[in-house]
Amino acid sequence: MTTHEDVTCTFCGCLCDDISVEVEDGDIAAVKRVCANGRGVFAEHCSDARRPTVGGREVDFDEAIAEAARILDQADSPLIYGLSSSATEGQRKAVELADVLGAVVDTTSSVCHGPTGLALQEIGEPSCTLGEVRNRADLIVFWGCNPSASHVRHFGRYSVTAKGTLTPRGRQDRTVYVADVRPTGTSKTADHFLQLRVGSDYEVLSTLRLLVRGESVSAEEVGGVSVAELGELAERMKSCRFGVAFMGMGLTMSAGRNVNVAELFSLVAELNDHTRFSVIPMRGHGNVAGSDQVLTWLSGYPFAVSYARGYPQFGPGEFTAVDMLARGEADAALILASDPVAHFPRAAAERLAAIPTIVLDPCENLTAGVARVVFPTATYGVDAVGTAYRMDNVAIRLRAVLPTERPTDEQVLEAIIQALPKRAAQLEAVK
Ligand code: SF4
Repeated sequence: MTTHEDVTCTFCGCLCDDISVEVEDGDIAAVKRVCANGRGVFAEHCSDARRPTVGGREVDFDEAIAEAARILDQADSPLIYGLSSSATEGQRKAVELADVLGAVVDTTSSVCHGPTGLALQEIGEPSCTLGEVRNRADLIVFWGCNPSASHVRHFGRYSVTAKGTLTPRGRQDRTVYVADVRPTGTSKTADHFLQLRVGSDYEVLSTLRLLVRGESVSAEEVGGVSVAELGELAERMKSCRFGVAFMGMGLTMSAGRNVNVAELFSLVAELNDHTRFSVIPMRGHGNVAGSDQVLTWLSGYPFAVSYARGYPQFGPGEFTAVDMLARGEADAALILASDPVAHFPRAAAERLAAIPTIVLDPCENLTAGVARVVFPTATYGVDAVGTAYRMDNVAIRLRAVLPTERPTDEQVLEAIIQALPKRAAQLEAVK
């Protein structure tokens, strides 16, 4: 039996890199320190020797590559979507493929923290690392998120109970606020719970900005919360040693969306006139932060990017996958490590089922069930090495604990690029 230490769990944006994995007879025998959400990454990993399929028929790798290249080359408006459960290496190749094809590339960010990306462009993101939170933060605010269910080890490794240099007593050294529309497991652990009226985040955040500036507010309550309570929070925010706000989809996907997030980012920026304060979006998929990073390095934009004109154009609403598919605009798709048929609105999922689709994924899913070409790929962090970005945008190396004969996303995408007639024509033109 071999024990691998400091393995990274890729299930959520915490990217816990202290997992212990025991391998016996070529399979995973035991996993330690992983939470219930992440256990399946190791316990139910897909690494059998399945071959690629075309139209449901098993074929060899080259035949599947040729069919994928033919579909993408013949499309007028190809769409590449997903990316957030791949590694940085696969994501980079997906953007290269979009560039060669003149395709649209969009990621799952567009249906979760897309509004955060828009707010970041408008205000900037006053942020820090999770290590700084662990070692310094004495005030923690969770806004519209419930890490007790979605990021189970967040409390112990980084935030509520984590013990650090300036927080040696962990929970006792911190004050915790939760702002949400209903009680959650996270609100039960908090010192203060602000139960907001649904859709009132913007008003409450604006009121907090006024109070932080020392201005008076004549109303007695805003968004279901008394102004006295908001005043107390504003004072705590100004007087803490190091504060951090963690924000989730309760803020990005409620009325106001990017405007809500921009208001929180502005509040945090203004708090730095008084103390150290940061904000960290609670990113869901293990490498969704990486997909934002990679697309931004390569195109200048974090999601919804079209290369149709030969240069990158940003178009939320225009080049976001849900909108393109629902309007019937994409005529072929490559789905990388994602399952949009299971999660998209019906009109978008039906369009995906109607057009030729190529899927790269370690496991079978609903999208693979309707796809023309399916590549069973290696799982980064289990049987392939790679890089992923934690929710605080720190790059983490992913280890492989098992051998595999499956290709990685990067290898499949590179083979498709090499098989594209458009690529050959571009190379010929350069000569
Ligand atoms: S908190 Fe997230 S990254 Fe950490 S073990 Fe659980 S699922 Fe995996």
